[in-house]
Amino acid sequence: MKVAILYGKERLRIEERGIPVPGEGEVLVRIKAALTCGTDAKVYLRGGHPRMITPPSPFGHEFSGEIVKVGEKVDRWKEGMKVMAVNSAPCFSCYHCKREEYSLCEDLLFLNGAYAEYILIPERIAKYNLYPLPDSLSFAEGAFLEPFACVLHGIEKIGIKAGDWVSVIGCGPIGLLFLLILKAKGTRVIMIDKIPARREKAKKLGADLVLTGEEGLEQEVKNITPRRKGVDISIEAVGNPFTWEQSIRLVRKGGKVLLFGGCAPGTSVTLDTHFLHYSEITIKGVFHHTPPIVRRAYGILRDRIIDVQPLITEKLPLEDLGKALQNMLKKRGIKTAIMPGT
Ligand SMILES: [Zn+2]
Ligand SMILES: [Zn+2]
Repeated sequence: MKVAILYGKERLRIEERGIPVPGEGEVLVRIKAALTCGTDAKVYLRGGHPRMITPPSPFGHEFSGEIVKVGEKVDRWKEGMKVMAVNSAPCFSCYHCKREEYSLCEDLLFLNGAYAEYILIPERIAKYNLYPLPDSLSFAEGAFLEPFACVLHGIEKIGIKAGDWVSVIGCGPIGLLFLLILKAKGTRVIMIDKIPARREKAKKLGADLVLTGEEGLEQEVKNITPRRKGVDISIEAVGNPFTWEQSIRLVRKGGKVLLFGGCAPGTSVTLDTHFLHYSEITIKGVFHHTPPIVRRAYGILRDRIIDVQPLITEKLPLEDLGKALQNMLKKRGIKTAIMPGT
């Protein structure tokens, strides 16, 4: 089978490898669609990931496909079933898992290697985080389960009410997923991005307002919101200390800030202590997803409460993965669906 192997900074090769054989509890899936993700672009640029990928290694983690073989003691899954999955599963027995903080699991089992013709799903993921692809979704749409579960995790942690005013800094794939679910929940959404094409996309997908995020952003946001107070909830979906600080300044007194984008290790931000204290600001960090969230994310996608189709801006064969990641780094397009075998 063909597999994309990451060798280091911006170095990847499509190689020929043997098709894995599923062991006990494991499921072998033929990949039908694998989506490019900001994390993969970062991994490609930096040549690895401190927690998830040490090169040389297969990578890619948002996928859907068709089961071609199952291992022993697998009864729920059968050959020929179409499936979608997420890239990890918690252990259910560590300190955090016992407290139902599954995203903080000390033994989170990660699965990488979606940029390939086949992927072997480990038993733990097959058990807890693998779902049948419903007829309502295409393979590329089904591959949104992982990024959308991350977004939904953030939404549930911060708490959103219909009628809230929400700002989102970043109109990339994650920011736009936030926009889709925020509109479905009946909030007013201000989307912020420097790139005109991305603002346009946000507008098309239902943003009430789009802003460039330049000098004077804070005042612009205040002017738009009721009584010029600022937004109820501010979301950062870039992963940059500058925009983290910026997003905190956009909320009203009593407002909540969701810091979703992961910044580079070792970075830090400065906070206005006076503002935080006297305005009773809540700041929440959030990471990854949990099995209960994945289940709810699955339901939302299956019932098409949000339509992710417009976020797929290109479909390419596996051989063009390098090109797709370069485009992603240049902020061209939103998500590319890599379709192995096409
Ligand atoms: Zn991702
Ligand atoms: Zn655990």
